[in-house]
Amino acid sequence: MPPARTSRPSASATPAPDVPPARARAIQRRLLAWYDEHEEPFPWRTARDPYAAMVAAVAAQQTQMSRVLQIYDRWMAAFPNVPALAAAGRAEVLRVWARAGYPRRAANLHEAARVCVERYDGKLPRDREAILALPGVGPFTAAIIQTFGFGDDAAAVDTNIVRVLGRVVTGDLQPAKETPAATIAALAERLLPRGEASRWNPALMDYGAKVCLPRPRCEECVVASLCAARPRFAGGETAEPVRAQGAWHGSDRMWRGRIMQVLRDLPEDRGHTTTIAALMRRVQPGDERARVRALLDGLARDGLAWVEGARCGLGSAPPRDRLGEASR
Ligand code: SF4
Repeated sequence: MPPARTSRPSASATPAPDVPPARARAIQRRLLAWYDEHEEPFPWRTARDPYAAMVAAVAAQQTQMSRVLQIYDRWMAAFPNVPALAAAGRAEVLRVWARAGYPRRAANLHEAARVCVERYDGKLPRDREAILALPGVGPFTAAIIQTFGFGDDAAAVDTNIVRVLGRVVTGDLQPAKETPAATIAALAERLLPRGEASRWNPALMDYGAKVCLPRPRCEECVVASLCAARPRFAGGETAEPVRAQGAWHGSDRMWRGRIMQVLRDLPEDRGHTTTIAALMRRVQPGDERARVRALLDGLARDGLAWVEGARCGLGSAPPRDRLGEASR
């Protein structure tokens, strides 16, 4: 295996709170030891496959880990590598994504695979800037690709990691609301034990998911004696909840989900197309017809659907001759 590389994201320009080296080492040692006993054996963590790591990281955005595994298994069975994904049609990609939510993520994976085929011989690039230039790839996904895919050092920052690091070092009870994101990113970079990113990043993620929860289990915490937030929780203070997502019922997300469901269910023998009028009958927008029509256009702009005259469909529009057949 090639030697591990260490990348320094731009966050390192932001000063991180000072952590004395002995305290940093103690935090690292205890959390890594905890991870050795509590590791979640997700397949992408040990596959050393940059593509698998990218799929998992994209699937994990705004999604609970219990669902990520289902999405990941389904996706990897359908598209086991970059060339297989790049060669698939957009409609097929969206069908495999199914009801996983935020289907723009599936389209981004599809576009990223096509870029990798065009520019990188069907593989993911190893360089961080090149990874970050792929469609839909932000700092978290890039760090996961670097860490699990290539075995390189990169500090990942997700909501769990923000909570753990922010509480332990800055003493904030709800760091997502109280600590600037750049400070946490700089902190994650400073505390990353070199050569250990593939254990350290998941250790923090799992610790935030199992122990340092929004309502933390400080009594069973292995870093309680090192944690700046512990005295505050022990004194009876509580963490303010991070603002929940807005109501789903009646939201744009709900209507988009319904449109996508109807489009995914279109029969293959009709070329996966329908009329906008038929789509509306199945979506049942009631008084929201104009809104649903505008959302359909938005899905088309996002590469998730197409609209041609009075017809529409999932993914990309079929060639005009096939569109004619399907209309008959
Ligand atoms: S002591 Fe409590 S707040 Fe601090 S890291 Fe442990 S679980 Fe989180």
